[in-house]
Amino acid sequence: MKVLIIGGVAAGTKAAAKIKREDRSCEVIILTKGKDISYAGCGLPYYVGGVIPAREQLIVNTPESFSRLTGAQVLTETEVTAVDTAAKTVTAVHKGESSTHSYDKLVIASGASPFCPDIPGLDLENVFFMRTPDDAIALREAVEAGGIKRAVVAGGGFIGLEVAENLAEKGVRVNVIDFAPHVLPNFLDPELSEYVENKMADAGINPMTGVALEGVLGDGKVEKVQTSKRAVKADALVLAIGIRPNTAFLEGSGIEMFKGTILTDKNLRTNVEDVYAVGDCAMVTNRETNEPAWSPMGSTANIAGRVLAMNICGGSKEYAGVLGTGVAKLPGGINTGRTGLTETAAKAAGYDVITALSVVDDKAHYYPGAGSFIIKMTADKATRKFLGLQVLGTGAVDKVTDIAVTAISLGATVDQLENLDFAYAPPFSTAIHPFAHALNVLLNKMNGSLESFTPAEFAEGAAEGYRLVDASPQPSIHSAPYLDLTKIEGEMEGFAKDEKLLLVCAKGKRAYMTQNRLKHYGYTNTKVLEGGTAFNTVEEED
Ligand SMILES: Cc1cc2nc3c(=O)[nH]c(=O)nc-3n(C[C@H](O)[C@H](O)[C@H](O)COP(=O)(O)OP(=O)(O)OC[C@H]3O[C@@H](n4cnc5c(N)ncnc54)[C@H](O)[C@@H]3O)c2cc1C
Repeated sequence: MKVLIIGGVAAGTKAAAKIKREDRSCEVIILTKGKDISYAGCGLPYYVGGVIPAREQLIVNTPESFSRLTGAQVLTETEVTAVDTAAKTVTAVHKGESSTHSYDKLVIASGASPFCPDIPGLDLENVFFMRTPDDAIALREAVEAGGIKRAVVAGGGFIGLEVAENLAEKGVRVNVIDFAPHVLPNFLDPELSEYVENKMADAGINPMTGVALEGVLGDGKVEKVQTSKRAVKADALVLAIGIRPNTAFLEGSGIEMFKGTILTDKNLRTNVEDVYAVGDCAMVTNRETNEPAWSPMGSTANIAGRVLAMNICGGSKEYAGVLGTGVAKLPGGINTGRTGLTETAAKAAGYDVITALSVVDDKAHYYPGAGSFIIKMTADKATRKFLGLQVLGTGAVDKVTDIAVTAISLGATVDQLENLDFAYAPPFSTAIHPFAHALNVLLNKMNGSLESFTPAEFAEGAAEGYRLVDASPQPSIHSAPYLDLTKIEGEMEGFAKDEKLLLVCAKGKRAYMTQNRLKHYGYTNTKVLEGGTAFNTVEEED
């Protein structure tokens, strides 16, 4: 059997290597446009910042080492320009010369390219993209040559923020502009994105949201970046405003597409017999909603590439799909993770959503390096299904994210997740694991023992008419009356039992314990502010 693979980075090389392992007798040929294969796209921002010192470290395999390792043939600088699915051939061009290649099975793994807007000035020196090793090398060289003191990064998604952090590490002053109202749009709910924006500002990176990129100004090289608000002084512009699938060459092939991405079934086959698609060029399924989903992620490319290879070699493996999972290191010393449905997405999908945001220790609080996780969980009130998790923190956010991935993938309810036997020792975790702790807060809320406002409700004014009460271990909210939990033994002077009281402490825990005690003594109208002063800006009265 002869298998042609178009594209030789994450999805293409994963599929090729696995096909050769499944069936050594298969002839596997990768046709790929660039000169590098199998490079670590995800590592590019860290090359810019010097965390990854050498270019060679970005190249997982050269074409030669890959062929030796796997037995697949690699033709680089070979661009496929057309696919004839009736004749089962592809046309490719290498250094101006055209050739035709036949196949028994075809894998399209042609990935995606950075979106390039139609605006003036992009031909100026010091306009950069961030997709290939050469892009990262060019940016680092320009920074190290000393000509870039200020930069604008267009795009407040993962890639934009990773590049911004690494430029800042190199001493560059960075503005990040994004058309959306917040950074990390669609990845986090708005209040968590706002928290990220504040951390960026603390780190000297200026987030400019709700701002469109309109052009680049300069004499030969970038001097200013024109936005819909104002012109921003800059020596460089890095474009990270999205990607588009590389599928134009499939025009007329009969392969079914949606908005430029190739539609695949659960076995990763296209609508055309013996043609498969995988990676950034292909559409998969959202495992939770069963809707088509585009997941241009290295994780998806590798997992699906492996499944596809097994199917090509006679298997019938299904790829269950994605949950929108991701983790990233962000400016300001924090990390983020998310899987499943955010509150916004869950509401849009028609769920009867309940959320709880908690601030919990990420390891034993007395252990060096301990920090906090801010965890927002989403569940469905009606079915009690666990729907999603978002996390911010200085520590290992992937840990809680991956627990949530497992939970959602197995269709767990919040009740099934209670009291799981998670590992604990002080350097790693807390006796009640941070995931379990956050889940207990959600369960308390669902079961009525915690009555609270979410940060989003609080910001929208839900606590109007409530008197702010400081429920911290020591008085810490200036001008708010103080309630000491340890002194509550009955009705408290100055606090009527039916008065609307908003209990606030640093993280939410002490306020919850105070609410619990007050309820016992007949207080009927108290609310806890989820996330306390660690997450919310609590306005003090004059
Ligand atoms: C800066 C950056 C950071 C990232 N960080 C993460 C991360 O932390 N986690 C994560 O999961 N993902 C991350 N990603 C995404 C991840 O890198 C991609 O999802 C992954 O590379 C997709 O692999 P792919 O093989 O589908 O496509 P690509 O990597 O785009 O490779 C496709 C290849 O096909 C070639 N090609 C295109 N058209 C043709 C044609 N007509 N003929 C021949 N060859 C063709 C292209 O030139 C390219 O070499 C990051 C991406 C970038 C750019």
